[in-house]
Amino acid sequence: MEEKKTGEDRLPVAIIGAGPVGLAAAAHLIARGEEPLVLEAGSRVGSSLREWGHVRLFSPWRYVVDSASAELLAAAGWESPDDGEHPTGNELVDRYLEPLAAIPTLRDRIRLGTRVESVSRQGYDKMKTAGRERAPFALQVRGAGGREEVILARAVIDASGTWQRPNPLGSGGVPAAGERALAARIFYGIPDALGAHRARYAGRRTAVVGSGHSAFNALLDLIALGEEAPGTEITWVIRRPTLDGLFGGGDRDALAARGRLGDRVRGLVESGRLRVAAGFKVTELRAGEEGVILIGEGNALPPVDEVVAATGFRPDLSLASELRLSLDPAVESPVALAPLIDPNVHSCGTVRPHGAEELKQPEEGFFIVGMKSYGRAPTFLLHRLRAGALGGGRPRRGLAGGPRGPPRAAGDRGLLPGAAGQGRRNRRRLLPVELLRVSHGLTSRMSGEVDKSRNAEAGPRRPAIRIARHGWGALGHLGCP
Ligand SMILES: Cc1cc2nc3c(=O)[nH]c(=O)nc-3n(C[C@H](O)[C@H](O)[C@H](O)COP(=O)(O)OP(=O)(O)OC[C@H]3O[C@@H](n4cnc5c(N)ncnc54)[C@H](O)[C@@H]3O)c2cc1C
Repeated sequence: MEEKKTGEDRLPVAIIGAGPVGLAAAAHLIARGEEPLVLEAGSRVGSSLREWGHVRLFSPWRYVVDSASAELLAAAGWESPDDGEHPTGNELVDRYLEPLAAIPTLRDRIRLGTRVESVSRQGYDKMKTAGRERAPFALQVRGAGGREEVILARAVIDASGTWQRPNPLGSGGVPAAGERALAARIFYGIPDALGAHRARYAGRRTAVVGSGHSAFNALLDLIALGEEAPGTEITWVIRRPTLDGLFGGGDRDALAARGRLGDRVRGLVESGRLRVAAGFKVTELRAGEEGVILIGEGNALPPVDEVVAATGFRPDLSLASELRLSLDPAVESPVALAPLIDPNVHSCGTVRPHGAEELKQPEEGFFIVGMKSYGRAPTFLLHRLRAGALGGGRPRRGLAGGPRGPPRAAGDRGLLPGAAGQGRRNRRRLLPVELLRVSHGLTSRMSGEVDKSRNAEAGPRRPAIRIARHGWGALGHLGCP
């Protein structure tokens, strides 16, 4: 029976960010009869993805489409992309997020051009305790024309990603001396060297700083540009002293496209086509007559015209500074998640599926999800949503084709990882665990409903074991072997 909603229950669940995870969260909440309100800073959904839209994902479609979203889309007549193809960032938005956001049930619950500037408890600063958990969340937002507004919500899911907060070039985690002053010569992220940014790099000298997949993508494009534009020179600058373990698992990588990416860069280095400055810790950038000079600890590089900072990203924690959060001091992820994703331990992202138990905060009703939940760890993949999906416990009404839910899409089976060999029995459990459990947490707390499926599963950790038993462990261990 539908519960009658009163008071605070009538407030929406605010979702910060309309990226793949924010929209997936909204789709799951809708499927559960909850009322989401998605607040997106950009003028379109998937704004951050658009900024690296020219880059091809190493995940194929089958890993990046969320199940509840696929159901909404299928009901609207969506033609699902080929499972095995790899979309670019732009294609992910054009062919998946835009159509999803256009579905009327979702469209009316998304506010574009609305940046969340802070989240607090209405009338409560961080210090005040008595009655705190009963106060709604107050989100200060800035909309079109800079108009400020306060939106109240009964829970908040922060899916704002990390893309908008790139790490600086300074090897100590703070901007190198001169970095701010030379901002016009630095590109943070992955330039579209073969497209929109071609003129900036063609026939010029560029230093690419960083050793992750973003750096790989930037290097490959610049090298390709160099084949067309004489005089294009690239220096790859890495902090670590050697290239050992840098290129990933090659053909043993659980994601073939990611393995190939590393292999291609390795090939360029080994053939001498890519110059590497290893063990170089950037401390200063200096503008000279010949160009920008990167200065390290007791050494310097030849001058360049441009610098690409592919040094990773970090979460913007200022948003929730008046909430009571418990974050790992190094990784800046929820504390329970940190040991699973710490790059000091998990070199290639050997992360088991996890859920709301790991994501929950002392501030009840506030969750950080998606890319941002990984803090500074670079290993987040949308696969986590799908991999964890296996362990979601007994599907609830309205999901997975239950009494209130839409019929399963004809092509849905193909969108589920490994579904071909798993059959119907396992498909019943294919619910994104992060979102499912976030939802469970919200539902049980807010409606006072006991989440029987969770009790029946005897805790959140069992699913990971089940995944391994079903032979789907690879999805929870997408790193190098
Ligand atoms: C080059 C590159 C390649 C990648 N390849 C893969 C891959 O192959 N497979 C994979 O699974 N993952 C890949 N990733 C990781 C990928 O970015 C994430 O999986 C995915 O984008 C995470 O989605 P998200 O919704 O958590 O965050 P995002 O996609 O970053 O979305 C966050 C949204 O929040 C909005 N926002 C930010 N701040 C605010 C605010 N204050 N108020 C309102 N809105 C706000 C942003 O505009 C954005 O739309 C890649 C990342 C990069 C950079």
